[in-house]
Amino acid sequence: MPRKPLIAANWKMYKNPTQTLAFFQEFLPMVAGHTRDEIVVCPPYIDLYVAIAEVKGSLVAVGAQDLHWEKEGAYTGEICPGMLLDIGCTHVIIGHSERRQYFGETDDIVNFKLKAALEAGLTPIVCVGEVLEEREAGLTEDVLRRQCLRAFHAISAKKAAKLIVAYEPVWAIGTGKTATPQLASEAHSLIRGEAAKAFSPVFSDNLRILYGGSVKPENVKGLMAETEIDGALVGGASLDPKSFAAIVKY
Ligand code: PEP
Repeated sequence: MPRKPLIAANWKMYKNPTQTLAFFQEFLPMVAGHTRDEIVVCPPYIDLYVAIAEVKGSLVAVGAQDLHWEKEGAYTGEICPGMLLDIGCTHVIIGHSERRQYFGETDDIVNFKLKAALEAGLTPIVCVGEVLEEREAGLTEDVLRRQCLRAFHAISAKKAAKLIVAYEPVWAIGTGKTATPQLASEAHSLIRGEAAKAFSPVFSDNLRILYGGSVKPENVKGLMAETEIDGALVGGASLDPKSFAAIVKY
C-alpha cells in the first residue's frame, strides 16, 4: 500500500491565539477538499485550543510541538500526553533539533517522550538530523543511526504503529539551504533501514519519513518527487496561509 503523504507545519514560538484564528480562517478554505495529503498544524501550546476549535469539520489535524513523558506530576511548566488528548490534539513533534540544541533534550529523553506519546495514542513525529559539523566530518550516517537506535529503544513494532519520522538536517533549518532531493533521499533510506532493524522490514516499508529544512512552495515539488520522501515538516513557510497552502498542494 502506498504511504499517504503528510505535510506538517511547525510554527515554533510564533503566533498568538488571535493570529491563529486569522490563519485558519484564511487557510482552511484554500485546502478544503484536499485529500491527497494529510495536513497537520503544530502551533504553540497556548494556541491549541483555538486551532482545534477552528479545524473542526475540516481535514486538518492539530499537533503539539513537545510533551512531557510523565502522566502527571509536579513538573512546573510542562504538558503531559493526557492533556493534549483531552483538548483534541492528535499529533506531537518530538526531539526537534531546537529542543535538542537549546533545551538539552537528549536521545534518552526523546525515547521517553516517544514511548509516552505512543502509549497515550498520539501520533508522534520524531525528528532526527545532523548538524553541519557532523555532515562536514562525514558523521551523518553515524548520527542518524545513533538517534534512531536510541529513539526506538525498547519499543515494539506493534506499539510503534503510528510512528512518523522527520529527517531534518539541522544546517537546513531556517537557513534557506535545502538538502537536495537526492541527499534527503539517501538519509531517508538510511533511516528506513534503521527502522527495519528496530521493528521489521514490513514496518519500515510502511513508515512515513518527512523531510524538513527550508521547505518552500518553490522546492517542495522536487522533494516530493522522491519515492523515499513521504511528506514535509515545514517551519518558516508554514506561518503564511498562502505559502503553506501552496506547499500542501505541491
Ligand atoms: C522546522 O522547524 O522543523 C523547520 C524545518 O524549519 P524551516 O522550514 O524554517 O527550515
